[in-house]
Amino acid sequence: MSALVFTCPQTGRDIVSGINTDLESLSHVQHLPVILFCPNCGKVHRLVAKDGRLAAPPLPEPERTHVARV
Ligand SMILES: [Zn+2]
Repeated sequence: MSALVFTCPQTGRDIVSGINTDLESLSHVQHLPVILFCPNCGKVHRLVAKDGRLAAPPLPEPERTHVARV
């Protein structure tokens, strides 16, 4: 199980949703509405589960060069 992380459409920063899931479960709930209070911009975002990504994917991902963030 990994944390489902969304991206703030306003700031482009990560929002950790507090939802824990895995790729298989996520594939079944792609259209599940997710309402998040965003700590980055202070607004509420209405997204769907497929907009998120897993924080620690169990499989290697294609190269990602912009994930380093303190
Ligand atoms: Zn936001």
